[in-house]
Amino acid sequence: MARTAVVCGAGGFIGSHLVKRLRREGYWVRGVDLKVPEFAPTAADDFRTLDLRDPDQCERALRIPGGVPDEVYQLAADMGGMGFIHGAECEIMHNNVLINVHMTHAAARLGVPRYFYSSSVCVYRDMRPGEPEMAEDGAYPALPDNEYGWEKLYSERIALAYARRTGMAVRIARFQNCYGPEGTWQGGREKAPAAICRKVACAPDGGEVEVWGDGTAVRSYTYVDDMVDGIFRLTQSHLEGPVNIGNPEYVTVDELVAATAATAGKRIRIRHVDGPVGVQSRNFSNARIESLGWRAAWPLRRGIAATYSWIATQVDMPGVRIAV
Ligand code: NAD
Repeated sequence: MARTAVVCGAGGFIGSHLVKRLRREGYWVRGVDLKVPEFAPTAADDFRTLDLRDPDQCERALRIPGGVPDEVYQLAADMGGMGFIHGAECEIMHNNVLINVHMTHAAARLGVPRYFYSSSVCVYRDMRPGEPEMAEDGAYPALPDNEYGWEKLYSERIALAYARRTGMAVRIARFQNCYGPEGTWQGGREKAPAAICRKVACAPDGGEVEVWGDGTAVRSYTYVDDMVDGIFRLTQSHLEGPVNIGNPEYVTVDELVAATAATAGKRIRIRHVDGPVGVQSRNFSNARIESLGWRAAWPLRRGIAATYSWIATQVDMPGVRIAV
């Protein structure tokens, strides 16, 4: 009998890639989302359009032929890049808490054996450049930079409480920024790598791109195949408590632009403008996920090359309207 999984958020970026991976692993997969994937047909065996803020729809999502799935992957969230996170803090706190409260409860009530929750490194406080690596327990005492991070921290705690009280095996990953093909690349919800790929693709050789802030903020960017590999390994594992997943290659935002321009073969000038930047620095331990044999296989330059080439194709599609 094939193992079974329900992926919540399967119409989104990481969820749609995760569905493909689970199908390759031989799973029967149901995808659930408010919408079908935007850029390619879903790979799921079965896809349901449901609103997971509603408790009844959470239960419908989890009732599959023959009972409940062996594994639930909860990636559904109202989310986007830093601009969206700062502008839509009420929607983020309202919608995402409802999704996580109801989905965790439904999974435990129906007897789902294994539950994965997608948290974020936004749960951590800001760091200073050069600060030593922070491990997972460094999230407390808590001081996230934004409400998205506070919601993630609270939803981690919901999942951990249900694990303690019901015996449901809960696995939690804290993702660093994730990027790759078939992710949102325009419209206001895109994250920095996709936005920069789009801006560079639209700029002429010798042209200029706008970057929010002074360009010195330090980040790591994790290619989607590496993220999905970490999610899968973690969910199969014995590791309890939150686990960071991120490429250990840290760069400034200006270095990200330079890498993208080099991939595109363009000379690009950067104009720094005011905008929501988020924290100044990041440096997280990957020791827990690496204990499962996980390694980031995609260096930034290779991942940006794959992402840039996909976004450049989108930009060139006939009829596509672009807000640079
Ligand atoms: P995404 O926006 O592409 O996917 C999220 C999906 O959830 C969307 O397709 C959306 O339609 C769906 N959704 C939203 N509200 C819903 C509802 N009420 N009912 C059903 N579906 C709903 O985002 P992503 O980049 O694929 O992120 C997946 C998860 O990983 C999210 O929980 C996100 O917070 C987390 N995460 C992502 C990153 C990143 O860099 N992409 C970093 C840290 C954490």
